Amino acid sequence: LEPKEEFDHSSLAVDVMRPRRSDPALAVLTQEGMTVGEVEALVESTHYSGFPVVVSQESQRLVGFVLRRDLLISIDNARKRQEGVVSASQVVFTEHAPSQAPDAPPPLRLRGIMDLSPFTVTDHTPMDITVDIFRKLGLRQCLVTHNGRLLGIITKKDILKHMAQIANRDPDSILFN
Ligand code: ADP
Repeated sequence: LEPKEEFDHSSLAVDVMRPRRSDPALAVLTQEGMTVGEVEALVESTHYSGFPVVVSQESQRLVGFVLRRDLLISIDNARKRQEGVVSASQVVFTEHAPSQAPDAPPPLRLRGIMDLSPFTVTDHTPMDITVDIFRKLGLRQCLVTHNGRLLGIITKKDILKHMAQIANRDPDSILFN
């Protein structure tokens, strides 16, 4: 995102965020209740660089954001070193240990690798403001919410693609100074 390029177009975060209407749903992790095996299956079935963590699938309330790389490294380390962590172990991002059956395998606690305050904008935030924040904070991605519910994600590449699309369609709408 070259600082010289002014983004002067009326698009909103909702116009740039993924998933698009025809895409598969946003891939999220829940703060508790998923097993190590389920988390691995989700991560390995996608190529995304990161995953939002939500309170529950129903609420879609944002808790944080974890990078794919950190998840894979932590699970790998835990499987090797942490006594008893297996595919059926529960992955928890909460502060407190989950209540589970006495014979359940020990949980894998991953709060430590989660970004607790990922940057968010609302779906109606104008893209010129979002682009400005990306530049000033050097963001790689930002999450999009509506009334506190997680709706989508915008990466730096999504913004660049969107800018290129606008430039092709409507060259006068981007000002280069
Ligand atoms: P990049 O945009 O740099 O390739 P990613 O590989 O993380 O970064 O994302 C690829 C595409 O998938 C982007 O369009 C992004 O908006 C979208 N995306 C990223 N993370 C997720 C996710 N957890 N669930 C659904 N879509 C995602």
